[in-house]
Amino acid sequence: MDFYTRTKQFSLKEISPKAKQLDEDAVFPKEIFDKLGSEGYFSLLIPEAYGGEGKGLSEHAQVCMALAESSATVGLCYMMHNVALMCINNHGDESLKQKIFTDVVKNKKLLALAYSELGTGTHFYKPEISAKYTSTGVTLNGTKSMVTSANYASYYLVLSPAKEGEKLNNWIVPLEAKGLTFLLSQWDGLGMRANVSCPMEMTDLFLENEYKIGEDGSGIEQVFATVAPFFLTGLASVYSGLSADIYQEALQHATTRKYAQDLSLSHIETVQIHLSRLYTKMVGTRTLTFEAARSYDNQEADAVLKIIAARIFASEGAIESATIAMRVGGGKSYNKQTSLERLLRDSFASHIMAPSVDVLNIWLGKAVSGQQIP
Ligand SMILES: Cc1cc2nc3c(=O)[nH]c(=O)nc-3n(C[C@H](O)[C@H](O)[C@H](O)COP(=O)(O)OP(=O)(O)OC[C@H]3O[C@@H](n4cnc5c(N)ncnc54)[C@H](O)[C@@H]3O)c2cc1C
Repeated sequence: MDFYTRTKQFSLKEISPKAKQLDEDAVFPKEIFDKLGSEGYFSLLIPEAYGGEGKGLSEHAQVCMALAESSATVGLCYMMHNVALMCINNHGDESLKQKIFTDVVKNKKLLALAYSELGTGTHFYKPEISAKYTSTGVTLNGTKSMVTSANYASYYLVLSPAKEGEKLNNWIVPLEAKGLTFLLSQWDGLGMRANVSCPMEMTDLFLENEYKIGEDGSGIEQVFATVAPFFLTGLASVYSGLSADIYQEALQHATTRKYAQDLSLSHIETVQIHLSRLYTKMVGTRTLTFEAARSYDNQEADAVLKIIAARIFASEGAIESATIAMRVGGGKSYNKQTSLERLLRDSFASHIMAPSVDVLNIWLGKAVSGQQIP
């Protein structure tokens, strides 16, 4: 059984029945993540030598998509864990890998990304927090603006200025580090409400050098070599999954809602056109996302272009699908009697998550015309 099918079974049983409640409660879905951990999903990308499954971008896409088809907010929290793990895998030294991978495999620990800041917003690779260096480590002061899985994840990747010039360092901050606090009361997201993506404050937070990922000053290379492909494919997968959820909900409504002694909405030609567009977006975003991941796993030259395209297509597709679906859902959906308004709210995170779709459209336009992107 492939990872998509296996995860789909998990999602239908463990997540779908709780999706509405997750949105209403706006708290981190601890029970679901404890189950994901105990079923081995946290180790999907950890190499077999460290006790993981040793899988790649294609399986990352399959799992994120299948989770998001039941709850996009669950898919998003999970996606970030995999991105952080891959950074350690591709750039961390042996002792850091041993320490973190063992903690994930044995103790089912979750990772998260604390990159964005208020001052630099969507340009998360330009941190402004302060980093004071000694021979043994760094002292961090400052605030990360939106940290998904806040307070539940056991480790947070943090980008800081390096010792010199424009360079960056990528750190791994343990939850129990002294000086770390989360402002959970500041989270009241429009959608993706189980993300609890609140600010994270670091006050005189000291980290020993062993918590630095990779060579000194290599943070920006890590962002473009590893964070970008896994994060963008993760987003493409989550928003493709959301489009599938929207399609299913609209189809269900269109085939069951009837006027007295009449046929269902799905017999009206305009509704048929809406369903056609929803199906096309679901299949199109899913197909491009899996193709981009396949292309990356096979080290093809245009893989990164396809990954950016998949992220743009899936994000725009989710918002367009949600808008069309609300028309199918009519007043019943407007009055929150279907889940379509929740899915519409979830879809609005897609454009703005860094790097935003606006920024990525510019990057892709530059890249295909042979110009340099950051
Ligand atoms: C649900 C959710 C979860 C998140 N989780 C995390 C997380 O776990 N970790 C994390 O680090 N961050 C996270 N973020 C933060 C996110 O990735 C962005 O950094 C943040 O949303 C940027 O917000 P901002 O208001 O500062 O955007 P701004 O930087 O103010 O940008 C606003 C808009 O301006 C436009 N814009 C800005 N600059 C340009 C440009 N140069 N070219 C074209 N258009 C431009 C873009 O359209 C952008 O959407 C999360 C965000 C959301 C919505």
